[in-house]
Amino acid sequence: MKRTLYLKFLIAYLLFGIFGFIMVATFVSNMTFEHCKREKAESLYAEATQIANTYAADLYNAETSLDTVHRQLSALSAYMAGAKIWIVNPSGRLVLDSSKIISQNEEIIVDGFDPTVTAGSYYTIGTFWGCFTEDNMSVFAPITANYKVQAYVVIHLPISQIRKNADGYLNISYLMLVVMFLLSLIILIFFTELVYIPLRRITQATEQYASGNMDYEFSVESEDEMGYLAASLSYMAGEIARQEDDQKKFVANVSHDFRSPLTSIRGYLSAMLDGTIPPEMHEKYLGIVLNETERLTKLTNGLLTLNNLNARGMLLERADFDINQVIRNTAASFEMTCLEKKIAIELVLTDDKMLVNADLSKIQQVLYNLLDNAIKFSHHDSVIKIETTEKRRKVFVSVKDSGIGIPKEDQKMVFERFYKSDASRGKDKKGTGLGLSIVKEIIKAHGENINCISTYGVGTEFIFSIPKAASMDSDEEV
Ligand code: ATP
Ligand code: MG
Repeated sequence: MKRTLYLKFLIAYLLFGIFGFIMVATFVSNMTFEHCKREKAESLYAEATQIANTYAADLYNAETSLDTVHRQLSALSAYMAGAKIWIVNPSGRLVLDSSKIISQNEEIIVDGFDPTVTAGSYYTIGTFWGCFTEDNMSVFAPITANYKVQAYVVIHLPISQIRKNADGYLNISYLMLVVMFLLSLIILIFFTELVYIPLRRITQATEQYASGNMDYEFSVESEDEMGYLAASLSYMAGEIARQEDDQKKFVANVSHDFRSPLTSIRGYLSAMLDGTIPPEMHEKYLGIVLNETERLTKLTNGLLTLNNLNARGMLLERADFDINQVIRNTAASFEMTCLEKKIAIELVLTDDKMLVNADLSKIQQVLYNLLDNAIKFSHHDSVIKIETTEKRRKVFVSVKDSGIGIPKEDQKMVFERFYKSDASRGKDKKGTGLGLSIVKEIIKAHGENINCISTYGVGTEFIFSIPKAASMDSDEEV
């Protein structure tokens, strides 16, 4: 198996790291720089305005000398990390530079000085009309005295300074990215523990199952979807194994049930042929042979019926019919057998007519099988009671005998194919053990239930339900 899933996840993880890095290097870096620029411009502007309104204004109101202001401003600029404070005349003449002393007769003119260059904002970025070699941020604040703009306080700060500041912040972002990246390793660990390892176990298990090892056991101890998947898978494997077992048992049973009548037929016939059974006895033994062939026919028919019932999409031909009438007819068909065994059938039917909605022929078969069992396993001179009761839109049909009964431990198994209790084997040699499985399948196909209540040595009762016809419901409601 290729470890592609893990690899893909690792690639995704790396991509996350790379894209994170690219994002910080471009987008975040830009944003930080812009933010620093804006913030610096604001603080420098506040500073410049302050200077314009205090020291510089004093200068123009002739309250102080240029020298004093120069000293004050150089002290201030020392606090402003690399910033230069200039005072420039509207004409562009440099009056004061905090970084150097301008002698009286020296005239420095900023060529092309134009205070409106900031156009709405309060700063400009550039070399300040060629005064610097590197880019600077220059913030303007007018000095007004006598209602006139006398000059401008301009504070210059090299852009490299701002960038250094921004880089400081950016480093924090990189550090955060690394921390995030390492922290997201937790996701990788979770993925490995919660998804990858269980998935590998599940895949291994499916490989084992596919190769036929249905007993392979594995467990994924988590209560999430993975755990559920694993549990479903092992349940499925169990079911398949059980079905295989059932299948084997079924074939073994079928072969066994076919073999015994065939062996006896073969035995009797060869004995007749080689004279071991004299001709005058032939009739008796041919009778036995006939009986055995009847049993084989019954077995084959039973298997065919079961197979048809099991077939997926078995269609029931549902119709409304009178269950009471069906019960009466079925009981009547057993009249001869009952006479022989002196068994009476007592019918306790609710109402004269009881319409149900079901497949008529299949329900007939259910009644036939149940009644057949009841008679087979009843003692001579006993009574079998068939009763119908209605409860919550259903009709319950009970077939109750006082025959040999079924031992408690066998009651669960009576509906299984080929099941015949030991007690019944002596009483009924022809039985195939398929009758009740057919009954169960039919009732199941109707979406209904059948129950067996029995006391060993006392008697047995089978109760099954069928839905009432819709017309009966509306009759009641009226
Ligand atoms: P077949 O129906 O093919 O003749 P069968 O009657 O033996 O064979 P089922 O009808 O499936 O098979 O019944 C299975 C077993 O359940 C019987 O062999 C018998 O042991 C037990 N059983 C069923 N009905 C009764 C009953 N009314 N009283 C006692 N035992 C019963
Ligand atoms: Mg039967």
